[in-house]
Amino acid sequence: MDRRFEKAKALMPGGVSSPVRAFGAVGGTPIFLERGERAFVYDADGKEYIDFLGSWGPLIVGHSHPKVVEAIRDQAGKGTTFGAPTELETELARRIVDRFPACEKVRFVSSGTEATMSAIRLARAATGKSVLVKIEGCYHGHADSLLVKAGSGVLTLGIPGSPGVPTDLAALTVTIPFGDAAALQCVLAERAGHVAAVIVEPVAGNMGVVAPPEGWLKALRDLTAENGVLLIFDEVMTGFRVDRGGAQTLYGVEPDLSCFGKIVGGGLPVGAYGGKAKFMDQVAPSGPVYQAGTLSGNPLAMRAGIATLDLLDEPGTYEKLEAASAKLQAGLEAAARAAGVPAVVNRVGSMLTAFFTDRPVTNYASATIADTKRYAAFHRAMLDRGVYLAPSQFEALFVSTAHSPAIIERTLAAARDALQAIAR
Ligand code: PMP
Repeated sequence: MDRRFEKAKALMPGGVSSPVRAFGAVGGTPIFLERGERAFVYDADGKEYIDFLGSWGPLIVGHSHPKVVEAIRDQAGKGTTFGAPTELETELARRIVDRFPACEKVRFVSSGTEATMSAIRLARAATGKSVLVKIEGCYHGHADSLLVKAGSGVLTLGIPGSPGVPTDLAALTVTIPFGDAAALQCVLAERAGHVAAVIVEPVAGNMGVVAPPEGWLKALRDLTAENGVLLIFDEVMTGFRVDRGGAQTLYGVEPDLSCFGKIVGGGLPVGAYGGKAKFMDQVAPSGPVYQAGTLSGNPLAMRAGIATLDLLDEPGTYEKLEAASAKLQAGLEAAARAAGVPAVVNRVGSMLTAFFTDRPVTNYASATIADTKRYAAFHRAMLDRGVYLAPSQFEALFVSTAHSPAIIERTLAAARDALQAIAR
């Protein structure tokens, strides 16, 4: 057992600051990282890995991009937090509303969890209703109302929600399967007059990547609008990634409220939620819906976010991400076929998941039949070959602008070898 992990476990639950990092789903002990440089991370012993975790999504321009580092350094010298307005918040807000027409105004928070939790409070206040509809296998952070049939760590650890969430509160969250519009119709009829909002990852990333079936997001939009229910897109993972304007731009469906995190902070802790002014003006101090934060909109994090979004606006960025990701998907599919390992690779833009199953993965039920033991073996085999993947079958693999064609080719060579090894 790694001494570092032993020491960490003595002082922190499971030795980690967030559950899936403990490698419980893939076995072995977690690798302690020390340094990241563009597409690579280096462990405490100096071993190099091609990194597809990207800190779970924020690092779309890779680790320690010189422009992001320069922005952070410069700001650190001027002050990291004031708890007072700076023009930097306006600058980052401008970049969000420019990319997301459904957002006329945004509020900055410090994590994706805070963004979704606050958006739900706003939706409940704006509608005067309480019931929340959530999609099975979608994860929206760890707020009480959102842990019911959640994905990511809740799914990875196989726990049905969480102790500590009051039953009365959990009873206000109704879940429906991903891709099922008829189920929403039923809930809206059964709970008529009680539903405040539907929250969805427009492209699921937290049961592994699952694309929305054709027309489903539009059906959610129509059904919610007809019933006076707000539609919340959780774009914490998809925002600025699957398209410059997120999944709502890619699929042409406008939600009432949008939640952001990850990329918007460029690797520093930032979340945001936004929507039309008629909703956002209900948030304090414009309106009565309370929500606040000591470090919200701090200048250090704003600078990292601004630098990252500006880098993404360099010409050809999304085309490059798409080409690298498509090459990775095709290569993984071919490698699995050649090794005789049943696998389905789901991808939307630069987020993808290789599920070890021979059936299409379209929702929570089909995701959970994937062979997690085989994923664990693949994960270990890839680590041994210098490639760092998410330590769970039910997570995405993130491609960044630092993943050059040569790095993708190196990854595929490792994958071909790893898949042959685990097929035996
Ligand atoms: N929503 C989605 C879609 C996410 O993927 C995550 C985190 N993986 C969250 C919300 C929660 O964000 P955070 O971990 O920053 O609280």
